[in-house]
Amino acid sequence: MTGIDIKDGNFLGINENLISAVKTNENLISAVEVNENLIPRIEANEKICPNAKVYEDIELAEPIFVSSEVPDKIYEKMLGNSIMLKDKAEINIKDYSYLQVSYYGFDNETHIGEMIVNRKVANDVLSIFKELYDIRYPIEKIKLIDEYGGNDELSMEDNNTSCFCYRKVQGTKSLSNHAKGMAIDINPLYNPYIEGENISPASAVAYADRSLKQKYQISKNDDIYKIFAKYGWSWGGDWKSKKDYQHFEKR
Ligand SMILES: [Zn+2]
Repeated sequence: MTGIDIKDGNFLGINENLISAVKTNENLISAVEVNENLIPRIEANEKICPNAKVYEDIELAEPIFVSSEVPDKIYEKMLGNSIMLKDKAEINIKDYSYLQVSYYGFDNETHIGEMIVNRKVANDVLSIFKELYDIRYPIEKIKLIDEYGGNDELSMEDNNTSCFCYRKVQGTKSLSNHAKGMAIDINPLYNPYIEGENISPASAVAYADRSLKQKYQISKNDDIYKIFAKYGWSWGGDWKSKKDYQHFEKR
């Protein structure tokens, strides 16, 4: 890229491999191939491209669906939250992947969410969220449960979509499917877990009656159900005794 003068550039679109258009004062470079050097170089020198320093906040023309090893910084954040310190030794973090996925929020804008999933299902989860994005399936937020101190009730109350939380099934030594990174809860406030009189989150009482077909409700054979099913994931709303309407899992 040496010799190209980006004086007042605007990023119109970035994905992991391509900056699809970089507009400059005088020049329009229609397709600039990355160029692993360009982004760090621009970050380092905001004078070259004043808008680039906030490129993470720019609404991206191209959605992203990327997977990587769990970065050290994220792992540190997980310790004491989604991974309790007493359980730390039981986990090989290399078995998990860190995902970033684009999604449509309830505001109908695109956002980027973060998830930790089992490495074995990382590609399938990226494909599932790509399909959800393509049909503009509304998801309110996708944050790591560590933002809620690893507290599932708080995450559900906030209607946060999430996957990984390392916990044993209550009263047993067996790991939950969330601990394995093989289960995802979608819009949990509107799709509570119901077992007898027990509703989780507790604030979801208004969404317990599934015959009402309320907005954001997940139902058998609807779009999201079919997308997860296509990749071999089952739905907690199909369970017999208890119902977990937010829950999709791979076994
Ligand atoms: Zn779940």
